[in-house]
Amino acid sequence: MKKTVGIITILLIAIMCFAPMVSAAQVVTTSAVTVRQTPKGKTVVKLKKGTKITASSSKSGWTKIKTSSGKTGYVKSKYIKAMGTKKKAKITYYCACPNCNGSWASWRGAWSTTTSTGKRLYNKSSYKWKYCAATPSVGKLGQTITVYLDGAWRRLKIVDRMGSSYGNRIDVFWPSHAGCYNRGVHWNKTVYVK
Ligand SMILES: [Zn+2]
Repeated sequence: MKKTVGIITILLIAIMCFAPMVSAAQVVTTSAVTVRQTPKGKTVVKLKKGTKITASSSKSGWTKIKTSSGKTGYVKSKYIKAMGTKKKAKITYYCACPNCNGSWASWRGAWSTTTSTGKRLYNKSSYKWKYCAATPSVGKLGQTITVYLDGAWRRLKIVDRMGSSYGNRIDVFWPSHAGCYNRGVHWNKTVYVK
């Protein structure tokens, strides 16, 4: 029994470590759509054009969604769009380390940095896909950006400011310096600002 419990614990830890990051953003249907149990599967519910739903990951033309009443399923990606003002921006990544932030960075068990809004961001995994810095032409501090990155819709709050000389530019907070480099640069990416 003890051994079984040990195996179950290891399995649970493994599942927790490898489960995909839950990320979601509010989107709206652009026509009447059918929500299906699986892509091309049984009908869960039909939605009218203009229905607000929560979208997470997308694959092969289908997006996993959740309705306001809590029903989950898949809709064709081409029938949804993010809400807000559509803009194009260059997207890069930054972390809380001194290389990315200079004297704004400090060590508190992990690197952390103070943003323009006073919000402190830490190099801890719970800070993934939540915050960003943006230039004034993208949006105001406190506004949110919806963008499709890394196979899922992401909703990021603008908590930090970048100089206007950069044009339309977004720096997504990512809690590891190596991770920022690995994620690269997205040129001319479509974003929705609200
Ligand atoms: Zn860094």
